[in-house]
Amino acid sequence: MTSISTPLTPQQDWQRRSVAAVWHPCTQMARAEVVPPLPIARGAGPWLYDYEGRRYFDANSSWWVNLFGHTDAGLNAAIKSQLDTLPHVMLAGCTHAPAVRLAERLSARTAGALGHVFFGSDGASAVEIALKQSFHSWRNTGRAEKREFVCLKNGYHGETIGALAVTDVKVFRDAYDPLLMRAHIVESPDARLGNEADALAAMRALLSERGAYIAAVIIEPLVQGAAGMVMYDAAYLRGLRALCTEFEVHLIVDEIAMGCGRTGMFFAWEHAQPQAPDQWPDFITLSKGITGGTMPLSLVLTTEAVYQAFWSEDVSRGFLHSHSYTGNALACAAANAVLDRFDAGQLQANAEQAQLLNQAFAPLASHPRAAHLRQQGMVLAFDVIEPGLRFAERFHLAARAHELLIRPIGGTVYLMPPYLIDAEAAAFLARAVRLTLDEVLSESTESSAQTLSKEVHVA
Ligand SMILES: *Cc1c(COP(=O)(O)O)cnc(C)c1O
Repeated sequence: MTSISTPLTPQQDWQRRSVAAVWHPCTQMARAEVVPPLPIARGAGPWLYDYEGRRYFDANSSWWVNLFGHTDAGLNAAIKSQLDTLPHVMLAGCTHAPAVRLAERLSARTAGALGHVFFGSDGASAVEIALKQSFHSWRNTGRAEKREFVCLKNGYHGETIGALAVTDVKVFRDAYDPLLMRAHIVESPDARLGNEADALAAMRALLSERGAYIAAVIIEPLVQGAAGMVMYDAAYLRGLRALCTEFEVHLIVDEIAMGCGRTGMFFAWEHAQPQAPDQWPDFITLSKGITGGTMPLSLVLTTEAVYQAFWSEDVSRGFLHSHSYTGNALACAAANAVLDRFDAGQLQANAEQAQLLNQAFAPLASHPRAAHLRQQGMVLAFDVIEPGLRFAERFHLAARAHELLIRPIGGTVYLMPPYLIDAEAAAFLARAVRLTLDEVLSESTESSAQTLSKEVHVA
């Protein structure tokens, strides 16, 4: 018997094959059959193009990694040149110029306060490194009982077992909870609640009781990203630094999402205006934007004091952690090209772009279903009042028709675009978000079910 069927378009073919062979991240695959992944053929600047020539503005910078758009000529040139010279060499027993330069340049950006850089590959591996270095440095200085960690409510630090233990996001955590090391979870600051003082008081209470057993506190500076772009004041950062110093607890500042200029400074921590080395964190983790969305790379910056705790004739007192691609030369070359942009005045451009976004989205503040319109540099977010069932998915799908690639977190719509915003792009984004919002809110549950069943046939 022969069945008669119309051939699939390339777009449909990639969708079908992807759902069959690729296990997609952060996705219930049963759902991916209903809402198939969008095959992207190429990218240019802030735009992504599918196989049917449709384009989409990458409003979340491909999961917060892309800083200067897709196929940026400068970053590509740096990678290509490194590719022809030395793509990779192991960083134990060998070294290479891109890693050395990158470490020096990042340390200089902390005014030398964090002068030692350890390389990883993904964000979560940097968090693992910081947790291990903190505990091990206490152990090496005779305080092995300091082995507990503190994180903030709704905080996110990655999804490997150690990083997940200091992550408080139910959907990622719950299934694995029985496997996880126990961390203290403390009230987080949230400008919407105006609870910064309470959050600091809760931290003081915990540190004064358990400080002798606590190795480190880990936080996301200024914005808790995965929590739904929860923003808070830099005063909390200063208060927390003082508490960690008072109770002799390390402070790990996870800049994986908010570093690299996203908040308006290169490090979000700079909003705390550190005047002296001891006003910096003990650890900073970086990843995501550090290669501008080209190559996986992460790193941990730390202090002379932590470094010295490992300095010994005894091998076992050293930090023997490693990943195969640690300090990959291609990734380091990309990161150096990213730093070149910041040396050339990127922060000034970001300030202007943040202003353009601010103006374009200002009218949304009076939308009857939008609450808490908020912004920190190149992060803009608002909460939807009564978003309804599967809001994030419906918004994401409806936005595609307006040339916008965007993924709300629950009922929070946010933009974290590449640093390529001009007046036209800002106006485009504000209009596309507004149209999508009104469309999705006026949809009845019934018609959204129809949209989804149509997608099944497309797949
Ligand atoms: C994304 C993220 C991580 C994890 O990085 P991966 O590269 O996804 O492992 C850790 N911390 C924060 C704050 C992040 O946003």
